[in-house]
Amino acid sequence: MLQVMLFSILFGVAMLMVPAEKTETLRRFFEGANEVVLQMIGIIMRVAPIGVFALMAALVVETPSPDIFAALGMYGLTVLLGLAILLFVIYPLIVRYLGGMSPLKFLKGMGPAQLMAFSTSSAAATLPVTMNCIRNNLGISQEVTNFVVPLGATINMDGTTLYQAVAVVFIAQVTGVQFTFGDQLMIVLMAALAGFGSAAVPGAGIVMLIVVLQAVNVNPAAISLIFAIDRPLDMCRTVVNVTGDGMISTVIQRKVDKAAA
Ligand code: ASP
Repeated sequence: MLQVMLFSILFGVAMLMVPAEKTETLRRFFEGANEVVLQMIGIIMRVAPIGVFALMAALVVETPSPDIFAALGMYGLTVLLGLAILLFVIYPLIVRYLGGMSPLKFLKGMGPAQLMAFSTSSAAATLPVTMNCIRNNLGISQEVTNFVVPLGATINMDGTTLYQAVAVVFIAQVTGVQFTFGDQLMIVLMAALAGFGSAAVPGAGIVMLIVVLQAVNVNPAAISLIFAIDRPLDMCRTVVNVTGDGMISTVIQRKVDKAAA
């Protein structure tokens, strides 16, 4: 995934260096492909509830001990608590002190994007609403919005990173794997990279979790343990991912304003 991202960034930079009329067809191709992919996400979202129901039904029938449900509940609560701290403590502090904006205005302005993120579980599908909120409700300039938000929707995934770190620790505890201090540092690094590389679509975080599990020698097949409750957690972490894009836009806007003054 990281190789693909590096290639794409280089490709984009090179495209900008070539005269515009020569890349016109290419640009239209990518715009068209983007629209088609977003449409595909929409179709998949419509049938997703049936898939999640089937996965949950399988887990309920196959799980040997009811203790696993209590443990899963604690795991889910831990992820939700972490996400809530990011959303209601860390982001408002950054918005207030680095972005120079009232946290209340920020959270209110991001509301429609958060709702859309919650219902689609996709930062990519939410992108148009996120841009609209950031531009019109937060008053961020067109230039900053156009640059920061599409990039943020792709690589800025604080919610996903936090969830992956908690999920690895939970799976390790259930499967009896002990972590050294070095392993824990590795989890921080790998979860940050995996969040960076996760696509902004439903369930991408759990796929990239495999990379983190492998890095600390935990059996990746164990993700089936958390699969059943992944969807609601995905909805919540996508809200944080999208709000993070708004948070960073306020910071960049302030820097741009300061540089221009
Ligand atoms: N659904 C998340 C997003 O679109 C990615 C993930 O954590 O699965 O931001």
